[in-house]
Amino acid sequence: MRIPLIAGNWKMNTTVGEAVELVNEICQGLGGVVGVDKVVCPPFISLAAVKELLKESSVRLGAQNLYFEEKGAYTGEISPLMVADLCEFVIIGHSERRQYFDESGEIVNKKLRAVLKVGLKPILCIGEKLEENEVGRTEEVVTEQLRSSLDGIDCSGAMIIAYEPIWAIGTGKAATGRQANETIGLIRGKIAKLYSEEIAREVRILYGGSVTADNIAEFVEQFEIDGALVGGASLKAGQFISMVKQTQEIFYPTNPPTKDLVEW
Ligand code: PEP
Repeated sequence: MRIPLIAGNWKMNTTVGEAVELVNEICQGLGGVVGVDKVVCPPFISLAAVKELLKESSVRLGAQNLYFEEKGAYTGEISPLMVADLCEFVIIGHSERRQYFDESGEIVNKKLRAVLKVGLKPILCIGEKLEENEVGRTEEVVTEQLRSSLDGIDCSGAMIIAYEPIWAIGTGKAATGRQANETIGLIRGKIAKLYSEEIAREVRILYGGSVTADNIAEFVEQFEIDGALVGGASLKAGQFISMVKQTQEIFYPTNPPTKDLVEW
């Protein structure tokens, strides 16, 4: 069984003080909620402070990006070793990075290699633009993104993929559960072809794009969808807590687990 995962991408929001306040509220609200992986991805500058607060918590820490080189003269960049020192997860290839920072498939591939080398768990983002969706090119686009991102990479169950249609990110216009399930099923099929049926069954695939506490159920009740990557709504503790709790109820309708299912 794939453990559901709800990850909050805080993007370029929160000062260190605000991040500390937000994570404290999240931890208080999620104390006894197990069986769902909960990941927060604050800005780099808050990672160390947030890590301290997560010591006794089942909430896990992720970064939003990294550079693929290990160290050296790359002013302003953060290396995989630095991220791995603090975090377990890292978002790679978010559409905002592809769009505003010219991240190509080749760069995403280099980053993924670097991430896996240091033992971080990548959350690889893929998804089509509105105009691609409108002309029925979704399958072609996500297939090419998978191919270029994963080229030469030994994929295992540690890989997490987030299907995030760009037209749904930050727009308030989420895909429907059915649409997302269909594309995620397709992505799982591509993983099976690129690797194996077994790996395709293990890899967690999330939906992302205007997910909130009001629509999370529509996504996590779908067969192929293993959770969500959430931007805006993850900045409100109450929303994040509710999304995790609803996911727990949907995944374990009769016997909720009494302890987390993953050994970290
Ligand atoms: C995201 O940033 O990955 C995202 C899905 O944002 P939002 O939830 O705000 O659409």
